[in-house]
Amino acid sequence: MTELQLETTIVDLPTTREHAFATSTLRQRSLVIVQLRSEGLIGIGEGVVPGPWWAGESAETMKLVIDKLLAPSLSELSALAPRAGLAAMHRAVSGNHFAKAAVEMALWDLTGKRFGCSIADLLGGACRTDIPITWSISAAVEDDCTSALAEAEQRAGEGFGAFKFKMGALAVDDDIAYVTQVREKLADVATIVVDPNGAWDEPTALRALRELAANGVRIAEQPVPRWNVSALARLRQSLDMIVMADESAQSSHDMADLLRRDAVTAVSVKLPKAAGLLQAAAMADIAIAGGIAVYGGTTMESSIGAAASAQLYSVWPTLLGCELVGPLLLREEVVTEPICYRAGRLQVPSGPGLGIDLDDDKLRFYARADV
Ligand code: MN
Repeated sequence: MTELQLETTIVDLPTTREHAFATSTLRQRSLVIVQLRSEGLIGIGEGVVPGPWWAGESAETMKLVIDKLLAPSLSELSALAPRAGLAAMHRAVSGNHFAKAAVEMALWDLTGKRFGCSIADLLGGACRTDIPITWSISAAVEDDCTSALAEAEQRAGEGFGAFKFKMGALAVDDDIAYVTQVREKLADVATIVVDPNGAWDEPTALRALRELAANGVRIAEQPVPRWNVSALARLRQSLDMIVMADESAQSSHDMADLLRRDAVTAVSVKLPKAAGLLQAAAMADIAIAGGIAVYGGTTMESSIGAAASAQLYSVWPTLLGCELVGPLLLREEVVTEPICYRAGRLQVPSGPGLGIDLDDDKLRFYARADV
C-alpha cells in the first residue's frame, strides 16, 4: 500500500477566441487539474477534452471517474509509477481514456521529480528542444472569413509555417470556398492541413479533398467518421495528399489495424485519447515501424497538458507536424510560467517532470464553485 493523496479541481479558463469544430464550439476551457501527493512530492496532471462530442467524456465525468474509481485503484500499488498505475486504472474501469491520461500525467510528473529529470529524459532523451507549431484556424460557422484572414496573416508574420483549418460546420462548397480564400493569403510554402472531424461521407470527402488538394492542401485529417476505415483506405489510394487518422486511431490496436489495411499515410497521436503517454508512445512506435508519419495532435490543452505532450513529441526522430496551440488560445492559466513559444515554435520545458508548476492562487481563483 502506498501513501498518496489525490486531489482534483475543475477550472474554467477564459479563452482568447471561440474555437469551432464541425459539430460544436468551444467558448471556455474546462479542465480537471490533478494533484498527486506522495513522499513529499506533488505530481500534476490535466484532464482535457475538445468537448464531450469527441469521446463522451467531459470535465465533470473525468472528475467523478478519477475521484471515485481511479484514485482508489492507485492506493493498492506498492510503488507509484506510470506503468503500474495505468494497469491498476485499467483493472478498475474500462474506457475513460481522457480521465486516465490526467492521472497518468501526474504519475509521470511525480516520477520525473523523484529522479530530478524531465519526462523526455525518462523516455531516453529529447531529439529536439523546440517544436514548430501548426496554427489552428477555427471552423467557419458563417461565410465571412475576415477575422480568419487577419488571424492567419498575423500568425504567418509571427513565424508559423503551417496552418490547420477545422472544417465541417458549413455546407461543403461554402467550406471549400472559405478555406481556399484564406489559404490564398498564406505563402505557398505553408503546409496546410484540413480536419472536418469525420463530418463528411465518402463521396463528399473525395470531391472536397480533390478540390482542396488542387488548391494546395497537403494533409487531410479524419475526413470520414472514425468507424469507416475502409473509406480512409480508398481515399488514401485516390488522393494526391497525405491522409491522416485521428479519431480512427485511439489505441495500439487501432494503429495495427490501420497498418494492416494500408488505410493512412499519417496518424495524429494524442496523449489523452490513448489513455496517456505510455499508450500514445506505443501507437507512435507501431506507426513509425510501418512507415506511417507521426503528427503531434492537440486536445486544446493548457500549458500542463501541452508540456506533457511536448515531452513525448520531442523524443521522436521525425515529426510530420505538431499543433499544440492550446496555451496560445487561453487568456489565463493556472501555472506560474506558461509554456513558451518563440517565432512559431514551442520551447520544450526542461525542468524535472513536466517542467511546469501550478500557481495555487490562480488555481483557487479559477476553481469551479459548484462542485
Ligand atoms: Mn483531429
